[in-house]
Amino acid sequence: MNEHYDYLVIGGGSGGIASVNRAALYGQKCLLVEAKALGGTCVNVGCVPKKIMWHAAQIAEMIHSYGPDYGFDTTLNAFSWQTLIKNRTAYIERIHQSYQRGLAKNKVDVVKGKARFIDAHTVEIATEKDHPAKKIVTADHILIATGGRPKHPDIPGAAYGIDSDGFFALKEPPKRVAVVGGGYIALEIAGVLNALGVETHLLVRHEAPLRHFDGLIVSTLLEIIHNSTLKLHTKTQVAQVIKNPDSSLTLRLKTEDALTVDEIIWAIGRDPQIDQLNLSAAGIRMNDQGYIAVDKFQNTTQPGVYAVGDNTGAAALTPVAVAAGRRLSERLFNHKPDEHLDYTQVPTVVFSHPPIAMLGLTEEQAKEKYNAQAIKVYTSSFTPMYSAMGSHRQPCRMKLVCLGSEEKIVGIHGIGFAVDEILQGFAVAMKMGATKKDFDQTIAIHPTVAEEFVTMR
Ligand code: FAD
Ligand code: NDP
Repeated sequence: MNEHYDYLVIGGGSGGIASVNRAALYGQKCLLVEAKALGGTCVNVGCVPKKIMWHAAQIAEMIHSYGPDYGFDTTLNAFSWQTLIKNRTAYIERIHQSYQRGLAKNKVDVVKGKARFIDAHTVEIATEKDHPAKKIVTADHILIATGGRPKHPDIPGAAYGIDSDGFFALKEPPKRVAVVGGGYIALEIAGVLNALGVETHLLVRHEAPLRHFDGLIVSTLLEIIHNSTLKLHTKTQVAQVIKNPDSSLTLRLKTEDALTVDEIIWAIGRDPQIDQLNLSAAGIRMNDQGYIAVDKFQNTTQPGVYAVGDNTGAAALTPVAVAAGRRLSERLFNHKPDEHLDYTQVPTVVFSHPPIAMLGLTEEQAKEKYNAQAIKVYTSSFTPMYSAMGSHRQPCRMKLVCLGSEEKIVGIHGIGFAVDEILQGFAVAMKMGATKKDFDQTIAIHPTVAEEFVTMR
């Protein structure tokens, strides 16, 4: 007889692990199926290794740009990429072990294998060890939390390039790199490589990276990039990649001269990882954008089958997948029939150089959504003390977008030193409905970057 579970979760990434652990805490018999490594994108090829690389880049900047102004002799004898990667890998391995312990403590069964639907409540798992042999399981409730994977362009020679997964697998840094794309991943990877001394070209097909962010942020980002060693190519599209006899790669560009580098990294967005799940056999439909269609309760079009995270087209962020997964288990297994995630007001940070923080509406979005006269913005432009003393001065710009006569805060934006760590607390204030007056009545903490948000006039 097939094994039967109360709750079967496909995908041991951010959303899946959060949901299955919460369900198990409420006494459900749970199975988690993961094809690769526990922790999914975030832990293995996303947030975690990225943040480690970002810290490495911060340290490099500190040594090269800021240390000497503070009086340090920062003569550097060597930088070992291999040591960095070895320590990063060991750190991630400790996270795997911690996840394993947590799942075992909660009595969640874990199977390493690839799952696909036979019907709405039956799943076949191809396990790694006995590949052709399949395990069949049934469940009352099934969660699909299979995440996404990087897109590659459909151009000749695209296969010579790597993607963010390939970036994290690099055994050594390239001498010259072209990062193609204008989103989070492109900007973050380009920033890291540039700071670590790689000749880095960032190729965007429009006028700027992150072009949907607030105008003040985008213009400041451009200003900072132009004053850095990062080589930004705008309004550029790659037509073809050619591999040269010396293994270097030449990008034929539609609008400018060809560019030759040693590595190309595609960072042009991600697709949902759902094509091998046999979703049609389970009666699960996609939405117009090709993601799994879900309602606000994460129900798919098949009763008893749910989806959370990147495969639903929600903001592709770990805390969003985690929150959706946990709330789903609260609804299903803890008598909270209305529990669901509010997808509005999601704070987010781009770990660029310097970081960018954004929450709520941009000024442009707010003016389009409401009567433009009802929107008032407050901005601040200054040089944080960290860099102000020395020769590598870098601006920090901040903006509050306020609505109506009571000046309710509907957007918070910042680019510059430390904004990544500042936003979370302000996100609480905005969630509680804070107004500009509330900000004004808050005593500043001096001298900090954060104080600018409560002293704007
Ligand atoms: P994932 O975490 O992708 O997990 C899905 C899991 O399902 C995978 O482990 C996969 O192997 C498994 N799977 C897929 N198909 C099957 C199958 N058929 N059977 C069994 N298992 C299967 N977010 C942030 O909040 N902050 C960041 O700083 C950040 N940085 C990022 C940097 C990069 C380079 C990338 C790529 C992403 C980053 N993200 C970041 C986004 C974040 O990683 C994702 O939003 C998050 O991991 C999504 O969680 P998920 O549960 O939907 O899917
Ligand atoms: P994004 O969707 O953020 O950006 C990809 C960008 O690449 C597009 O916006 C587009 O920009 C550009 N693009 C698309 N197609 C092409 C093409 N054919 N040629 C050139 N450029 C193209 O995707 P990412 O892959 O960067 O990241 C995916 C998601 O992962 C993010 O949206 C974010 O939610 C999450 N993430 C979060 C991070 C964080 O929290 N710090 C870090 C990394 C990822 P344009 O239209 O302007 O050309």
